[in-house]
Amino acid sequence: MPANPDYPELEAARTDWRWQPPAGCLDGKVILVTGAGDGIGCAAARCFACYGATVILLGRTRSKLETVSDWITSNTTTEPVIVPSDLAVLGEDNAQALADATNDAFGRLDGLVHNASLLGPKVPIAHYPPGEWQKVFAVNTQAVFMLTHALLPVMEHSERASIVMTSSSVGRQGRAYWGAYAVSKFAVEGLTQVLADEYENAGKIRVNSLNPGGTRTAMRSAAYPGEDPQSVPTPETHMDLYLYLLSDQSIGVTGQQFDARTWQQP
Ligand code: NDP
Repeated sequence: MPANPDYPELEAARTDWRWQPPAGCLDGKVILVTGAGDGIGCAAARCFACYGATVILLGRTRSKLETVSDWITSNTTTEPVIVPSDLAVLGEDNAQALADATNDAFGRLDGLVHNASLLGPKVPIAHYPPGEWQKVFAVNTQAVFMLTHALLPVMEHSERASIVMTSSSVGRQGRAYWGAYAVSKFAVEGLTQVLADEYENAGKIRVNSLNPGGTRTAMRSAAYPGEDPQSVPTPETHMDLYLYLLSDQSIGVTGQQFDARTWQQP
């Protein structure tokens, strides 16, 4: 990575990483990150670029993507691409257009990080507004399927591709009041298992789910308004695991559930 990216959060986190990724471990890779304008997705995009990847930044708010893109251009040797897109209304045609554009520009896709999500209301199922349920599922589950479905043929052009599905503790063990968010994450876990099984023998595309655990972002503050954000790890804290899953270091690892808080270098 460049000697001095202006990235103090990364510098602070890196000394405690459980795996020290070699410089350039993502050199030449093309990686798409959804929800790249903020929170964990923003950190992942910046981090991947620092380690050599060309990053496709997909998100809802164009200005946030432009800020991330400007940072990457100024601080790394890579040139990102921005894709403003509202995943709540992503149709088959939009997903296919993105896949075609990716194929035209790069001829392949090496990494896909499904990170964008909606929290939705934290209320009992009995009081859950059905319209909100649909919105959460549209972003957290339906768009994940649509993007994966359209991009799989482009990923098959990669020698070794990696898909990371972002999950949550409540997507592995249900908890009261987490509603559509929790149930949608169970669906993401299911998609991970089905897809990993389908690609296991071919060996070219690995698929894993990752629970980042409590992380200092806007979503965390919305879920836990009384919590002191300083008591929660920064997104950069767990970027060693993200880099591991996107780099060739994790070739052969598929169908697994990762928890960023407890992960140890294999
Ligand atoms: P944030 O809410 O901080 O960021 C989410 C990102 O997703 C934002 O950039 C947002 O865009 C984008 N996004 C939301 N809706 C859409 C949409 N309709 N179309 C396109 N982009 C959209 O979330 P986190 O960074 O905290 O979470 C990232 C992932 O980690 C999520 O999958 C979450 O479930 C998971 N996670 C997070 C935990 C935590 O403690 N933070 C704990 C466990 C799991 P915009 O900025 O424009 O709104």
